[in-house]
Amino acid sequence: MQHGWLSCPRCGRDLDGEDGELRCPSGHRFEVGRRGYPSLVVGRSPLVRSEPAAVLDAADAEWGSGRLDALIQAVEAVLPSCAGVRVLDCGSDLGHLVAAAAGGRPGLRALLVRSSPAALVRARARSGAHGVLVDPSRPWPVRDASADAVLCAFADHRPAEFHRVLAPGGVAIIVAPQRQAAAVDDDVYPWFEHDQTRTAAGPSGAPAAIIRFRRRRRPLSW
Ligand SMILES: [Zn+2]
Repeated sequence: MQHGWLSCPRCGRDLDGEDGELRCPSGHRFEVGRRGYPSLVVGRSPLVRSEPAAVLDAADAEWGSGRLDALIQAVEAVLPSCAGVRVLDCGSDLGHLVAAAAGGRPGLRALLVRSSPAALVRARARSGAHGVLVDPSRPWPVRDASADAVLCAFADHRPAEFHRVLAPGGVAIIVAPQRQAAAVDDDVYPWFEHDQTRTAAGPSGAPAAIIRFRRRRRPLSW
């Protein structure tokens, strides 16, 4: 199950469970749905929604076309390779990056964090990873220091959350259109220091930057 990753979206304490239900010590309960993942969304959020199937079909086709293979390999090259590495993936790539990374890393443990049920179902089917449905406007229901790497491809980056969920020494790998690379650098600067950047062809052939950042021990303040 998702043991070791999740925290209660109501009170923040650790969630654990068996038999299709997660519980926290305060007594909050969350069902693991028929599709195999829990929804840790409290109340209703307009930001939690599925994309149309045609949009997801097009994204799946692009990631599987071979045109993004150099990008997929560049991400693999910058992911930590230690045994049992824990990867939190919050990207929009429908599981292609985690699936490729897991191929070369036996014991890799990944958690897919998504706000789209349809995208989460596809990403889980492709990668075999655990997943959780979340409200992107709230802190993630993920424990502090529970990941060694955060992988965020073509999705919103949340540097304060990345910093919180990463263990000391962890890395954030952000994939973005190359023209946005400098802005990403500026956004994450208080929490992360730049480590290295690679470039590869991205969706629709536009150049993409694969940027690895190292977690600062303490965020900078000014
Ligand atoms: Zn709770």
